[in-house]
Amino acid sequence: MKNVNKNILDISNKMFDELIQIRRHIHQNPELSFKEFLTAEFIRDNLRKAGIEYITICETGTVALIGKGEKCVALRADIDALPINEETNLEFASRNKGVMHACGHDMHSTMLLGAARILKEIENELKGVAKIIFQPGEEKLPGGASKLIEDGVLENPKVSAMFAQHIFPEEETGTISLNSGYIMASADELYWTLKGKGTHAAQPHLGNDCIMAASQLVMNLQSIVTKYRNPVKPGLLSITSIQGGSAPNAFPDEVKLMGTFRANDEDWRIKMHEEIRRITNVTCSLFGIKGELDIVKGYPALYNNPDTTKLIKATAEGLLGADSVKGFETKLWAEDFAYYAQKIPSAFWFLGIKPKGQKDMPPLHNSKLSPDEKAIPIGAAMLAGTAVNYLNNF
Ligand SMILES: [Zn+2]
Ligand SMILES: [Zn+2]
Repeated sequence: MKNVNKNILDISNKMFDELIQIRRHIHQNPELSFKEFLTAEFIRDNLRKAGIEYITICETGTVALIGKGEKCVALRADIDALPINEETNLEFASRNKGVMHACGHDMHSTMLLGAARILKEIENELKGVAKIIFQPGEEKLPGGASKLIEDGVLENPKVSAMFAQHIFPEEETGTISLNSGYIMASADELYWTLKGKGTHAAQPHLGNDCIMAASQLVMNLQSIVTKYRNPVKPGLLSITSIQGGSAPNAFPDEVKLMGTFRANDEDWRIKMHEEIRRITNVTCSLFGIKGELDIVKGYPALYNNPDTTKLIKATAEGLLGADSVKGFETKLWAEDFAYYAQKIPSAFWFLGIKPKGQKDMPPLHNSKLSPDEKAIPIGAAMLAGTAVNYLNNF
């Protein structure tokens, strides 16, 4: 791996200026989930310029194949932006008001373009095929990953392992953070409507008190996390909205609540959906009202396969040195890469983007997030290196 490593880093570093220009172009022209038409066109232009053939998938998705052979490894980057108004004051800040690459998918796309070019340059040394996937719609349900899988992205040629990375503002540039096992959570949206008979506030006995029922429901639901969860496994239920009532002297007919439920264990997740329904019904029945609950299932929890995780660690140590690899504390964020990881051995790592010596960095999804561009050639080399390592040594 030694010579290959040096070669990969050299090729990546040589592209630095070009990659910065690519990233700034994507950053300046962000597009919302499933509407990434110009972004996709720009990515395809860049692939064409590098002599890399591609096909279109799900309108704004792009898939390229590099190398020949039976074995196939996939690398994936998401390409969509968020409905956030950028406040970085950068000279290449978003030109689309109210839309911003605040989750770093501009960085991800650029690094995957870099990786594709590296792999193209060393194509003859590859013992198999690298499938390069530019995926739309990570930020919006049902998630681009599930649509791409439906459209056969894991077939022809059949993918046997898959990798992706995400920028990570909490760690310094060049740090690779990961762990095996569940590293991110499933995220389900919860919507309640409590329905009763409104009445005069001074005559509660003539109707129902949906306000008190809602308060009780919020309290009772907390038992999901405290009494129904294995305390050493992460899980969370947050009620984030209660709306109902319009006067100090009247009980409303209806109260609406919203919240999110997150878990990193699929069996527990499904069991708790039933438990949340049961607690809703029991609580509402105490107040003689009807409780409707709509659970919108989001992405599953993201599982890092132990073997492919080891492969990434070895790649990072070879490319960047052992000091660059750190563990990752499980987050209850959600990520649609989890759909691929349910199907095939996969792993996902976090790439530090906080400039060396800088104390604070705005978090992901923040209007002031500005990743260190020095991370770009590192991320490109990591993607290419992981693919090479998988195809040639795994
Ligand atoms: Zn995001
Ligand atoms: Zn993201």
